Amino acid sequence: MFFKAKDIDLKCTHCSEITAYQKASIVCPHCGGTILQAEYDLEELVHSHWKDQLSTRYPSLWRYHELLPLFDLNHIVTLGEGWTPLIHAQRFGKLIGLDHLYIKDERQN
Ligand SMILES: [Zn+2]
Repeated sequence: MFFKAKDIDLKCTHCSEITAYQKASIVCPHCGGTILQAEYDLEELVHSHWKDQLSTRYPSLWRYHELLPLFDLNHIVTLGEGWTPLIHAQRFGKLIGLDHLYIKDERQN
């Protein structure tokens, strides 16, 4: 199963107005607020076998497509983003007293 964009609601962080996600909605229709937080019905996702499917998918950002505002999986455009490495920062970790400090190297996106 996968969530289609129509299943995603957007909640305005300014006035809490909730509207269904639509391609053209970039502002709150109630107050004009520009920060809209996506809200998903995660219960349905949790009860599907979504977590089991993740490990079999291509290692990219799009493996989490259920949580992205997509209208059609056939229209994904990608440059291979995502799946950036975790680098063990041993010397910096020692400096601040952490034995297992890792830094996510997002520069590669
Ligand atoms: Zn609003």
